Amino acid sequence: MLPEIEKLLVLQDRDRKIRTVKQELKLAPLERKELDEKLADAVKKLEAVKLKGKETEVERKKLEVEAQAKRDSIAKFQTQKFQTRKNEEFQALNNEIKRYEGEIQSIEDRELELMDTAEKTRIKIAETDKETQAVKAQVERQIADIAAKVEALGGKLKELETERAGFAGAMDEDLLDTFNRLFANKNEAVVALEHGVCMGCHMTVTTQTVVRVKGNREIVHCEQCGRILYPGE
Ligand SMILES: [Zn+2]
Repeated sequence: MLPEIEKLLVLQDRDRKIRTVKQELKLAPLERKELDEKLADAVKKLEAVKLKGKETEVERKKLEVEAQAKRDSIAKFQTQKFQTRKNEEFQALNNEIKRYEGEIQSIEDRELELMDTAEKTRIKIAETDKETQAVKAQVERQIADIAAKVEALGGKLKELETERAGFAGAMDEDLLDTFNRLFANKNEAVVALEHGVCMGCHMTVTTQTVVRVKGNREIVHCEQCGRILYPGE
């Protein structure tokens, strides 16, 4: 194989690795964002359950106050009942007392329901809290892993770029320019020619091109896509 081609293949190998490392580095912030969102969701869920617990408690207290107010009214009616001499008024007070007692009963039924809800919510909060802690621990571990990965990739990238600069420095400038342009535009600059087919664009090249590539004496480009060819088969 032409020595220039060998050098280009080494260069291309480093460039491919550099590209892969850069792609992985680009993913890291996205992975990090996903983890942050996962944790935020878990915290939000916990807050929602805690809020439900608070709301239940507020309603229960409100009902307690309401029931007490009705009990106070009943006590007042009882006193009025024994002060009145009018039968109609006595009867009216009795009706009021009965109505209030019925309302107190409804409030107490609702209070029982709320106590049941509060107990269920208390269990749910404990469960959700445990889940959130687990998610938090997992997310923190994964974030640390990402940070370590980014650091390792950064080191690897530096190493590859130094190596690449060393190889590139020893090459013909025009050839290097051609290579850089092809690699940037076509994803790969140097490809094999196999059975007369360019492995870059998968088109059949002319017989003359095949002969020139096999001759191993010059840099030959695919006439379809412009990539540099080397004998593959
Ligand atoms: Zn081609």
